[in-house]
Amino acid sequence: MSDLMVVVIAGAAGRMGQANLRAVLATEGLRIGGALERSGSNAIGKDVGALVGGEPLGVTVTDDVAKALKGADAVLDFTSPAASVALAEETARRGLVHVIGTTGCSVEDEKALEAAAAAGGRIVKAGNFSLGVNLLVELVRKAASALGPDWDAEIVEMHHNRKVDAPSGTALMLGKAVADGRRTSFDDKAVFAREGHTGPRRMGTIGFAALRGGNVIGEHSVYLVGPNERIELTHKAQDRALFADGAVRAALWARGKPAGYYSMADVLGL
Ligand code: NAD
Repeated sequence: MSDLMVVVIAGAAGRMGQANLRAVLATEGLRIGGALERSGSNAIGKDVGALVGGEPLGVTVTDDVAKALKGADAVLDFTSPAASVALAEETARRGLVHVIGTTGCSVEDEKALEAAAAAGGRIVKAGNFSLGVNLLVELVRKAASALGPDWDAEIVEMHHNRKVDAPSGTALMLGKAVADGRRTSFDDKAVFAREGHTGPRRMGTIGFAALRGGNVIGEHSVYLVGPNERIELTHKAQDRALFADGAVRAALWARGKPAGYYSMADVLGL
């Protein structure tokens, strides 16, 4: 294994794709080996350097997966659930590191990704690649386990107006941390919407609210509301580079690891 790590960016023309391109270019020991976009994207045929406003790098954006993955060690993939699932079969077959930031995956999608990891993939998937959010998840788990059942848990998230899934993958991670801390089933306790005559709040439920607007990168607050006091735990992302740096860190960590399905908590040793 040479020291150089050859990385392919999937969804290269997207918001996160561009951030990932910049992060790889700024990291010593990493090289861009390919760039994937969906068929029909305007970016197909462009040099990746042009996507980030830089000099040509001699790597052309393509929708040909086999061509893009040739000679690659790792893929950074922030695309769509269908794209990530399809790509996971290809990366597993080749034993590549596959870092997946895509959110909005269904239970079936998750199962397909787990199957790809079982078939030889080295997948690191996270709803959020930031150190701060992964630490927040641990704090929330701890707080929820320490507080009694009369403390209501509500999760509020805000993102830019182009986001297509709700609640965010990070909000789901935080909700699952509350359920874990309380040793209850997330699926039984999550309340994703309230409208009309809802009746009083049911004790032990975990409520979600999703706000969308402007170019907000990602903000999450967990409210733990007791009878006479309230705890608010908040994280605000200030630049997408945060997620891209985490994705690069995950790719470097997964190099040399056995096939498996890993999380950012594994990468950070939390
Ligand atoms: P975006 O729409 O700007 O970019 C997605 C890109 O993927 C687009 O350019 C699209 O053309 C491309 N794409 C779609 N299908 C493809 C295919 N089959 N092959 C190759 N490329 C394909 O969206 P974004 O804001 O960059 O977010 C992308 C995903 O990453 C979303 O699911 C988002 O929620 C998630 N996200 C995760 C984190 C995290 O830390 N885990 C952080 C930010 C965003």
